[in-house]
Amino acid sequence: MSTKVTDKYYYKELYLSKLEVTIIDIIDNKIVLDKTIAFPQGGGQEGDRGFFIINDQEVAFHDTQKGVGRTLYIDNFPTIQVDTPIYHLIDNDKIQYFSIGDKAIMKIDTIRRAKLSISHSAIHLVLMYIEEIFPNYEKRVYGASIKEDGARLDFRTQEKFKPEQMQEIENKINALILKKELIKTFSHDKEKEAWYWQCQDYICACGGTHIDNTKYIGKVKIKRKNLGKNGQRISMIYEINNFFQEYYYE
Ligand SMILES: [Zn+2]
Repeated sequence: MSTKVTDKYYYKELYLSKLEVTIIDIIDNKIVLDKTIAFPQGGGQEGDRGFFIINDQEVAFHDTQKGVGRTLYIDNFPTIQVDTPIYHLIDNDKIQYFSIGDKAIMKIDTIRRAKLSISHSAIHLVLMYIEEIFPNYEKRVYGASIKEDGARLDFRTQEKFKPEQMQEIENKINALILKKELIKTFSHDKEKEAWYWQCQDYICACGGTHIDNTKYIGKVKIKRKNLGKNGQRISMIYEINNFFQEYYYE
């Protein structure tokens, strides 16, 4: 475990795809930087991938993870870790190219990031419309997975959604996508690593990466399945639409 702190540039400059960084710690195959644009796995969202150019070598990192720092307690906000190191995971046989104090150029996979951001925002819309029918349903979430091509939420519940409710939720999401509604993210006044997500008047705590307009989400399909007697899973997939090229950046 590293006790170093990484400056989370992805909260300051979300669309940066390239950055000069300094290696400040190395733990096994995990590289810790003074600052990073790679978003770590968290809240169900998979970590960013990319590569370093270091000492004339190109070395890929295949995952990004958040370490332990200060535990943050804020009212009506999930307990999160802030002031943490961020680990960039590389293959064991590439560790030789890295030394503490070295400078490197890092680049992230922006197509993957764009897809994760779309997928993540789309699953928020699913929950937003579920909550219209079942207020406070978010408290029943016990699992989340956000991947490039879709996402899912697992709920603790004995009351299963009916097909017509699923259809209603799906129709509302697709209507909002066509409406090109704005999506806003903003941080807590005093805690710069505590973030909120907002669409219309729906606000929730979330520190993931998101798009800023629903138009980037192509047509959404949702489905449900039972997780035993006491749970259900809602899965979402989306299409890539013509706005994707506009969103995608090098
Ligand atoms: Zn989010």
